[in-house]
Amino acid sequence: MGPMTSSSPRRPSPLAPEIADRLKRSADGLLPAIAQQYDTGEVLMLGWMDDEALHRTLTTGRCTYWSRSRREYWVKGDTSGHFQWVKSVALDCDADTVLVKVDQVGAACHTGARTCFDADVLLAEGTAGADSTARTDGTGTGTPGADQ
Ligand SMILES: [Zn+2]
Repeated sequence: MGPMTSSSPRRPSPLAPEIADRLKRSADGLLPAIAQQYDTGEVLMLGWMDDEALHRTLTTGRCTYWSRSRREYWVKGDTSGHFQWVKSVALDCDADTVLVKVDQVGAACHTGARTCFDADVLLAEGTAGADSTARTDGTGTGTPGADQ
C-alpha cells in the first residue's frame, strides 16, 4: 500500500493512463456515472465509479460501479438479474462525469422501477410554470442575458 496523494485520489488500476490522467475525480476518488438506455434515451440511474470500475465497465461489457455504502465493486445485475449491457461510454466536457449508454434488462432501480427517477417527480412535463410562452425561444427580442 503506497501513500495516497490528497490532490489526486486514485486507487491503482489497469485503466489506460491516457484516460486516467484526464479524469477529474471527487475528493474520494470517484466520478458520477449516468446510465442511459441507448435506444430510448431514458436516464436510468446514477452510480459511482473509480478508475477500476470504469476499467471494468470498458472491458467487460457490463456496468460496474463502486458502492460508497458497502465500499465494494458491484456489477449491475449480479444479484438482480437486471444487467446493463454496455453500448458506449463517454466522458463529459470536464472529464468529471461518465455517461454509459446501456441496454438495460428489466428495472434499473433497486425498487423495481424502470428508472431511478420515475417515482418522485417534483415537476412534471406540461406543468412547468404558469406562463409557458415565457420559455419560447424567440429571435432575440427577450431581455439580453436573461437566461445566462
Ligand atoms: Zn434507484
